[in-house]
Amino acid sequence: MKRFPLILILCLSTFIAQAQQSDYPADYAKAPRFRTLFCYDPSAESAHVEFDKQALRFFHKLSYGEGYLYDICTTLDSISEEKLMTYDLIVMLNALPSRASRAKFEHYMENGGGWIGFHASAFNNEQTNWPWFNQFLGCGPFYCNNWPPQAALVECDTNTHPVTRNLPHEFVIPASEYYQWNPSPRLSTHVEVLVSLSPRNYPLGIKDIVRHGDFPLVWTNTRYRMIYLNMGHGDECFSDATQNLLFTNAFSWMSGCQNKKQ
Ligand code: ZN
Repeated sequence: MKRFPLILILCLSTFIAQAQQSDYPADYAKAPRFRTLFCYDPSAESAHVEFDKQALRFFHKLSYGEGYLYDICTTLDSISEEKLMTYDLIVMLNALPSRASRAKFEHYMENGGGWIGFHASAFNNEQTNWPWFNQFLGCGPFYCNNWPPQAALVECDTNTHPVTRNLPHEFVIPASEYYQWNPSPRLSTHVEVLVSLSPRNYPLGIKDIVRHGDFPLVWTNTRYRMIYLNMGHGDECFSDATQNLLFTNAFSWMSGCQNKKQ
């Protein structure tokens, strides 16, 4: 067997290493990363905080390696408007902007910001008195809920949207509390409803019973880069693979909508 001089082998391996370093087509470590801010309220009711902590772990698993940038805060009040504008996406886990942060949040969303809201992140009633937020959500205030939390049969409203096209038409989601809104977001011309609670669940609840009504659970207001998912109460929401896929789809879709500040 012919033997190469050691110095030649060393030179050759150095050359290959340099070529690989400079020619590598996707230098992930140096690429600008998608920036996500998660916000949750540790003082919220315990069943919401249980969901929030599981959600933080679930989405953190999507950021391993040189994945997206993953920041956490417990209030938007601590984030300056300049800093907020650097994020591609805010994920609100059972949290709303305080009154002091409303204008900052509005400016962020009106200028191409991204938002994923879970469960109480959309909760509002007559006392909330934030008209911008209702037109942002595309629905009226909270109307009613089931109690206690229950598993429910849901239906996809479309099989062509990126968030639902790999989901079954119908599936059962783990126990949660579900909110109904009046008027329903389905009545807004800007809203696309993606998943709804099946009317076959009625009557839904034991203490608080929902007997009828349109019941969208997941929707997007096409005027904004946003998606709302009504799930988010208790510690069972991440126990089902299909619903986990729905959550991942929602996150992937939002991270792929790179129209920020266009
Ligand atoms: Zn709840």
